Amino acid sequence: MKSRRDFLQTVVGSFATIPFLNADCAENTKGSVQSDGPVLRVAIMGLGSYGTRVAEAMKMCTRAKLVGVISGTPSKISNWQAKYNIPEKNCYNYENFDNIKNNPDIDAVYVITPNGLHHDFVIRVAKAGKHAICEKPMAVNAREGQEMVDACKKAGVKLLVGYRMHFEPKTLEIIRMRKAGEFGKVLFFEGLSGFQIGDPSQWRLNKALSGGGAMMDIGIYSINGGRYMIGEEPIWVTAQETKNNPKKFKEGIDETILFQLGFPGGATASCLSTYSMNNLDRFFLNGENGYAILQPATGYGPIMGRTHKGELTQPITTHQTVQMDEMAAIIFENKKPVVPVDGDEAVKDLKIIDSIYEAVKKGGRVELKL
Ligand code: NAD
Repeated sequence: MKSRRDFLQTVVGSFATIPFLNADCAENTKGSVQSDGPVLRVAIMGLGSYGTRVAEAMKMCTRAKLVGVISGTPSKISNWQAKYNIPEKNCYNYENFDNIKNNPDIDAVYVITPNGLHHDFVIRVAKAGKHAICEKPMAVNAREGQEMVDACKKAGVKLLVGYRMHFEPKTLEIIRMRKAGEFGKVLFFEGLSGFQIGDPSQWRLNKALSGGGAMMDIGIYSINGGRYMIGEEPIWVTAQETKNNPKKFKEGIDETILFQLGFPGGATASCLSTYSMNNLDRFFLNGENGYAILQPATGYGPIMGRTHKGELTQPITTHQTVQMDEMAAIIFENKKPVVPVDGDEAVKDLKIIDSIYEAVKKGGRVELKL
């Protein structure tokens, strides 16, 4: 089976001749929590492959710490307890985790379950009075996403989404250059996001759990990337779907979608989202006076790229480590990230996804108001 991680590793491997730091010895590798300010005490819900990656990355955090787990599998809980020194009183399952409201030693719950479960779990976290961090896609449509935003607002807790690229140094440098006018008027973005998905029985190919296909899982990177690279919100979308394997990619599970976004300043984005091709992780931004390329653009790292001014040399980071430290600052100090990572930001992506699906069905242009 070829997993997304395998894919990402393949992409990284294709740069093997270029000397670079491995993500594991990235420059933000600082060791255990050692912060002057408050430390964000996090429980991870969903101890699967990405939950494990986040837990490992959090070992290097200075402002955030893994202190609890929520899982339906008792053996996973005991393994994690041993591995991350998690006390029994901070362990929950999906039935009893509402009791977390009585636990003063947990500040936030990071929901890393299949997409279709994010909505209900985040709302329960909010009702328990804890900050919610949720993986992308935040929900399976904009209506559910908005309900999550409203529930967190009502409960007076923060809702943040695992948009780890919003803290990635080369990405941020391109955004800085664009804001400084170094590309001139931006006219075009290309986003290629895809990998060849394996096991047909996995939740990613089950509509109830995934909410859709490649678009929900990987295409969202090109949507979100187009927005932060161009720096505007799209006003229309067109989209075309192709499906070569309807047996594997059933009704409601998109295999490949090409889509285009139009922006108010005149720029257009042309993007590909697919579960059927490897080696697709590339952003290209073009302006009147210059360009930027990221490839890999959104994998776990190292992110690599160049602009018309030369190679991008910003530090290689472990994305999830930086993300969690930055989220601690957002939660405790109201720090404003360069690109937002809150629920409203995620609802915009979900509105675009809804419109892409609508455009596929309708065959024409769908107007957007974000
Ligand atoms: P995974 O299958 O490896 O893990 C999912 C976890 O949820 C498992 O531990 C599973 O036991 C648990 N779970 C709870 N209820 C379940 C149910 N009813 N059916 C199936 N599993 C259930 O998946 P993953 O790759 O860790 O993805 C989890 C989330 O993280 C998804 O929303 C995904 O989009 C997101 N993700 C984000 C990134 C990123 O880079 N930000 C990368 C990978 C995954």
